[in-house]
Amino acid sequence: MDFALTSVQESVRDAVARICARFGDDFWLERDRHGGFPTELHQALAADGWLGICIPEEYGGSGLGVAEAAVMMQTIAESGAAMAGASAVHMNIFGLNPVVVFGNDAQKRRMLPPLIAGKERACFAVTEPNTGLDTTKLRTRAERRNDGYVIDGAKIWISTAQVAEKMLILARTTPLEEVKKRTEGLSLFYTTLDRSRVEVREIEKMGRKAVDSNQLFIDGLEVPEEDRIGEEGRGFEYILHGLNPERILVGAEAVGIGRAALKRATQYAKERVVFGRPIGQNQAIQHPLAESWMELEAADLMVKRAAWEYDQGLPCGASANAAKYLGAEAGFKACTAAVMTHGGYGYAKEFHVERYLRESMIPRLTPVSPQLILCFIAERVLGLPRSY
Ligand SMILES: Cc1cc2nc3c(=O)[nH]c(=O)nc-3n(C[C@H](O)[C@H](O)[C@H](O)COP(=O)(O)OP(=O)(O)OC[C@H]3O[C@@H](n4cnc5c(N)ncnc54)[C@H](O)[C@@H]3O)c2cc1C
Repeated sequence: MDFALTSVQESVRDAVARICARFGDDFWLERDRHGGFPTELHQALAADGWLGICIPEEYGGSGLGVAEAAVMMQTIAESGAAMAGASAVHMNIFGLNPVVVFGNDAQKRRMLPPLIAGKERACFAVTEPNTGLDTTKLRTRAERRNDGYVIDGAKIWISTAQVAEKMLILARTTPLEEVKKRTEGLSLFYTTLDRSRVEVREIEKMGRKAVDSNQLFIDGLEVPEEDRIGEEGRGFEYILHGLNPERILVGAEAVGIGRAALKRATQYAKERVVFGRPIGQNQAIQHPLAESWMELEAADLMVKRAAWEYDQGLPCGASANAAKYLGAEAGFKACTAAVMTHGGYGYAKEFHVERYLRESMIPRLTPVSPQLILCFIAERVLGLPRSY
């Protein structure tokens, strides 16, 4: 057993940290106040080739594993960029996995290089207003028409749709009543986000203002057949394939935010003098921070184990879910402790920890809720009966 980062992972961490150092907390504070996609970070990462970290070398990527991608995403979040920085590139890192695994060679050559080069951005459109986590009931329809499809429907919470040129979208091609299993009859498309057919309406939200999330109203979006990934009707199966890596990355990002918060809180606890001594001399200040350190380290070990399992081709569902759950909870708790350590100043934007706290809610809520992770572990690991 070896717990050390490999030399490749260390070089990923150091190089990404150097890029992120150009975008300090004040950069992110300004984006948090006024919004605006962090194109500068996206382009800086693209320029040094980081956007294709997990994409095979033959398509212009680096061909590294999820373990290396987790190091990269954690480093971005830990730099103080938090979820705004991580979400700006998250889709590039693993979002196009269905294209890599199930796309044909022509699709990979057409779709992957512009994303890696930072010339195109993509969003991922799955969630719908009326079906939530019950994905197989989604109502967006893709009807066969001539030599392609026409998509109609609505999506919600679709991140980066304000700036994306492309969209990976899941839609029903065979009505639910006509399929044997509810997971069948859904198809996956990677296509142009044609704004004359898709109205994109931004949702005002609690944090991560720099990276938009949106409602999508899709009315007669024409999609050529060559934009369908894999076989018709198997789209759900294809997106499942990418779920575990996504959970691992989100867990890693959440640990990163927690570490950023802990670093600020520890520094503040050393410097802030009240009653004639640093507040960090009080055990009531020390203990929540010490607890957070342990929880973040434990979550990080689960992230690393899950990533290792995935990269070895081993089953990783339990540890990927656990990594996302533990990372998100530990990150959120560390951010809360950081705000409390700062006292009233924790509530002031200029100390940054309130921004981390708001953004640390995102890995808790998405891509899957903590409740459904607990259901997964109860059923799949402990063998308890399915509850829903
Ligand atoms: C900032 C942000 C960015 C996002 N980006 C994207 C994106 O880019 N693309 C995309 O497709 N989606 C995106 N999402 C959507 C996200 O994945 C969903 O919000 C999430 O999957 C939950 O769906 P829902 O909000 O409809 O919750 P619901 O399904 O309505 O669930 C609401 C609550 O009920 C609980 N619940 C439901 N059923 C059960 C049950 N059987 N047992 C126990 N508890 C249950 C859930 O755990 C949850 O707490 C984003 C969301 C956010 C907040």
